[in-house]
Amino acid sequence: MPHSKTNSTVDGSRQFEGEEYDAIVIGAGFAGLYAVHKLRDQLGLSVRAFDVASDVGGTWFWNRYPGARCDIESFHYSYSFSEELQQEWKWSERFAGQPEILKYLNHVADRFDLRRNIQFNARIVSAVFDETASRWDVTTDTGVQARAQFIISGAGNLSVAKDLEFPGRETFTGEVYSTGAWPHEGVDFTGKRVGVIGTGASGIQVIPEIAKQAAHLTVFQRTPNYATPIANAPMDDEFENEVKSNYREYRTRSRNHFLGVPYNDVQPSALAVSEDDRRRTYEERWKQGGFRLFTDSFGDLLVNKDANDTVAEFVRMKIHERVSDPKVADLLAPKDYPYGTKRPPLETDYYEAYNRDNVTLVDIKGAPITAIIPTGIKTADGGAFELDVIVLAVGFDAMTGPLLNMGIVGRQGLKLTDKWEDGPLTYLGLTINGFPNLFLITGPQSPSVLYNMPLAIEDHVDFSTDAIRYMRERGMETIEPTAEAEQAWVEGSNAIAEATLLPGTDSWYMGANIPGKPRKCLVYLGGAPAYRGICDEVVAKDYDGFVLAGAESNSPLPVA
Ligand code: NAP
Repeated sequence: MPHSKTNSTVDGSRQFEGEEYDAIVIGAGFAGLYAVHKLRDQLGLSVRAFDVASDVGGTWFWNRYPGARCDIESFHYSYSFSEELQQEWKWSERFAGQPEILKYLNHVADRFDLRRNIQFNARIVSAVFDETASRWDVTTDTGVQARAQFIISGAGNLSVAKDLEFPGRETFTGEVYSTGAWPHEGVDFTGKRVGVIGTGASGIQVIPEIAKQAAHLTVFQRTPNYATPIANAPMDDEFENEVKSNYREYRTRSRNHFLGVPYNDVQPSALAVSEDDRRRTYEERWKQGGFRLFTDSFGDLLVNKDANDTVAEFVRMKIHERVSDPKVADLLAPKDYPYGTKRPPLETDYYEAYNRDNVTLVDIKGAPITAIIPTGIKTADGGAFELDVIVLAVGFDAMTGPLLNMGIVGRQGLKLTDKWEDGPLTYLGLTINGFPNLFLITGPQSPSVLYNMPLAIEDHVDFSTDAIRYMRERGMETIEPTAEAEQAWVEGSNAIAEATLLPGTDSWYMGANIPGKPRKCLVYLGGAPAYRGICDEVVAKDYDGFVLAGAESNSPLPVA
């Protein structure tokens, strides 16, 4: 790998001792792996990636809990950049489980020989922009110092665990596990009294699996979810042949879809059809599984409360059909927020788990958990639950958490934590004024988590590496959005969110799962196709909204 380890002085700036690269990549998940490949193999740059994990995989390295599975079909939740890779990889199930996705990412790392550019077991603790040298100086907890012109962050959107709001975890005499950092050797629940806290997408996947093994499972639910069937199945040869013969067309269709999947049966409004037709559509989508109900039934579910009420009622009815005890069904059926305004989880036998004798649902909405105690969990109404194992499925400091936990400091000593004190400020969800040459892959205020992640990642890595190529060809040193472009993007993104039902619900999309976190919509809700159109236009206009500085520049854009 072409890098030097010298006491170099760059342009008279302070002495730098460490490794020098053209680009540093943060993370070795879907984003980091593709970024390394692009930067090294297509742009010919020197590149170093750092990941705190001991191997590749990102989210799929950490989330090894039983039942962990992707909610988008394997064929679509995978890289599209290499036709050979698409053709040679065989998915065994319609929706791949975590072990298979991790295997796939390992295959990608080997096939493209990416590991030699990745330093594992290394957490980035600071990234400081040296304005004189126009370089980023990165330090890891292992003592590595590295300098690069560019940083591409593939730090992930859901990679920093949420802190517990109640004390006592360390006093518990049993075992505690987090779904987001599951032990590699697995966990044996046989004969144990297990408590699961959290009924989001992770909780909903792990609960049926633990229920099969544990002596008793107690589920602590604060807010019920609108979970719908994933309808997983073994891969069908005919379907595989069909997709592989027409992969390019499938990818185009995915890229032209709001969520990044090749569905096209959506009807404009749930209110424009008869009750019978609406019911038939919901039944069909429910049966088809995946995100069909959410994204391929009616186009106004997220913007019209009356339309949303129809699907919410349909899901509540299904829950009641599947859960034997009406009181339990009632607790499991969400009533006070619209469908889809929290990320809708997909499930396999989730509701049936509550029909088992060894599973108890505890409603903690009115009587929250106050503490973990040596013997188990205590709730505000005086309840004390004796447990051998506690499983935390309480979620993440989503979208901004990974970036704010890395000690990022931009121009003039500006800390990202200060800049984002009242919520994220980005241009295109990709770049930040005051932080030149830093690219955020699937950053806040981009479609990110409401788009098929591998495709969202490819789009963002391509945008970043195209910008780098453009700069290199013109001898430019820095790219940075103007403050005006950033403000306009943030206002536009927030305005789109306000036109939807999302801001009214306490969800991680809104930062509302973390006490004290600014309540701002963290996702661009204009849809991936519109978003891509905007990015294309920015590029076509020679990086409209950016200042590029160096030997030549695209001024007259005002310097922020
Ligand atoms: P989550 O959706 O944020 O759910 C966390 C759960 O923990 C919620 O039920 C929450 O209740 C509960 N909780 C949090 N703090 C609590 C407290 N102090 N006391 C009691 N309950 C508490 O987190 P997640 O399930 O890990 O999922 C996060 C995201 O990861 C998903 O939305 C999805 O995007 C992604 N994910 C994807 C997959 C997949 O593709 N298959 C699987 C898992 C996760 P409240 O709702 O009341 O806050």
